[in-house]
Amino acid sequence: MSSDIHHSAQGAKPNTAINTNTDSASTLTSKTYTVSLEKMKLNEIAEVHYQWVDDMGWHNKTPLEALALVASEVGEAVNECRGEQPTENFGEELADIVLRVIDLAHWQGVDINAEIIAKIAKNKTRGNRGRLK
Ligand SMILES: [Mg+2]
Repeated sequence: MSSDIHHSAQGAKPNTAINTNTDSASTLTSKTYTVSLEKMKLNEIAEVHYQWVDDMGWHNKTPLEALALVASEVGEAVNECRGEQPTENFGEELADIVLRVIDLAHWQGVDINAEIIAKIAKNKTRGNRGRLK
């Protein structure tokens, strides 16, 4: 995805906060980046990861069991955040969450790229709805 990210402030610290005032449903703009969501390669990663998990013989679960394993990875990520700062393993646990989600999506025929793009577009129409910033 890095080749699809256009820096608007070279050398600036990445700020991945979503600007809800973007004018396109398929583009996210932050203070640092403009990203075309159609160029995301998440489905390709999901397909390759799914095949690897299949090769390992680990696709022996129900969707509910697969979701429970997502929840277990969330618990592992929580444990990496129990101190004042997340530990060095926090990113790895976040990756585990994503990998389990995209594996499940691929298995169930969910186009996760399209779902994410649609959800971001939907979220843009919702405003803050009383949420605190
Ligand atoms: Mg883990």
